[in-house]
Amino acid sequence: MQIPGFIDPVPVPRASTSRADGKTAIVGLTRAELIAALAAAGIPEKQAKMRASQVWHWVYNRGVVDFDLMANIACDTRAVLAEHFVVGRPEIAQAQVSTDGTRKWLLRFDDGNEAECVFIPDADRGTLCVSAQVGCTLNCRFCFTGTMKLVRNLTPGEIVGQVMLARDALGEWPTGAAQASGDDAAVLDGNYTSEGRMLTNIVMMGMGEPLYNFEAVKSALHIVMDATGLGLSKRRITLSTSGVVPMMARAGEEIGVNLAVSLHAVTKEVRDEIVPINKRYGIDELLAACAAYPGANNARRITFEYVMLKDKNDSDDDARELVRLIRKYRLPAKVNLIPFNPWPGSDYLCSDPDRIVRFSDIVFRGGISAPVRRPRGRDIMAACGQLKSASEKISRAELDRRSAEKEAGWIVAA
Ligand code: SAH
Ligand code: SF4
Repeated sequence: MQIPGFIDPVPVPRASTSRADGKTAIVGLTRAELIAALAAAGIPEKQAKMRASQVWHWVYNRGVVDFDLMANIACDTRAVLAEHFVVGRPEIAQAQVSTDGTRKWLLRFDDGNEAECVFIPDADRGTLCVSAQVGCTLNCRFCFTGTMKLVRNLTPGEIVGQVMLARDALGEWPTGAAQASGDDAAVLDGNYTSEGRMLTNIVMMGMGEPLYNFEAVKSALHIVMDATGLGLSKRRITLSTSGVVPMMARAGEEIGVNLAVSLHAVTKEVRDEIVPINKRYGIDELLAACAAYPGANNARRITFEYVMLKDKNDSDDDARELVRLIRKYRLPAKVNLIPFNPWPGSDYLCSDPDRIVRFSDIVFRGGISAPVRRPRGRDIMAACGQLKSASEKISRAELDRRSAEKEAGWIVAA
């Protein structure tokens, strides 16, 4: 597979990862795709829609991975499902817990590629930081993920799979007995409400640039937002982009989640250096796209992420220019100041704490909220910009070889 260039990467479409057993993974299929897949597997057309609703409920509302536990589906239908499908979860290659409670999972996909996913618990919420790609084709100078060579887009199933796996690990599926009223009952009584859930929010801020994997991210987030399944509100989901301007309007219209923009600098010179996509889509173009973002208003502000790099982007003048730009474009905005999280070999230092406070004050006095984000999970390299899987250490040839071996059924997992 060609690895796209670093300024304007070509989105790499990826259907689904082939399975060695020839079965289709259900997680990641849209409802329409699921109906079609059930019909193709021999479930009578007239029943396929209703069966899809039942399967959808078991998979996404109750977290069931075994078709035999789908109590309101007849035994012979369950046998057809088991013959042609698996529900599907990514394999956990490594699980780590930080001293501050942050959890990080290294996931290994069917072709041996790996990506990371992080859960950040807080008193009033729990946020899952989800990856969109293995690696990233952009090379932001302060980001560890940007140093990865190998990249591929994740499939919708691999993106939704991260949410499913977090629910598994947090023990968040309902445990109440299913109240099936006969074989045709589509909706069961689960003792499951959003009340008291640990996983309440999702941020597309893991590895990769979500807007360079637009279709898969869109399908995945629609599955995550489906009210009869995982049921997360679009107000609790945030997509972060480094500034892929041509895709921003579509993200607002077709996905409709909250937008975060990795601004990080207010001059062309500095942003060109630290966020190289700026050479393609400059600050003014980016802010104009933010002003036009569908659904942004004072109740639903756009978050501007700003990493604090010592003597690079952290002066009083930078803070004042940030306020000026946000005002110029009349943006309903808040600014998230992120203390730089170091990684092995990084070129930058984090701004001093009093500098960060001063920067925050200037922005705040300009009428814009500018909290400083508390770094989480640094001890397990789970903080912003510290995610990097070992995928690049495996050559393309080695990945192909492993994939071929798996397809031939020689090994169960890489
Ligand atoms: N590719 C997307 C989303 C993933 S990065 C984007 O760039 O927006 C999530 C956030 O972490 C971005 O704002 C990114 O700029 C920031 N980040 C990257 N490396 C960092 C580091 N070393 N320290 C602090 N924040 C970092
Ligand atoms: Fe990619 Fe975002 Fe990291 Fe930039 S900050 S290299 S866009 S993941």
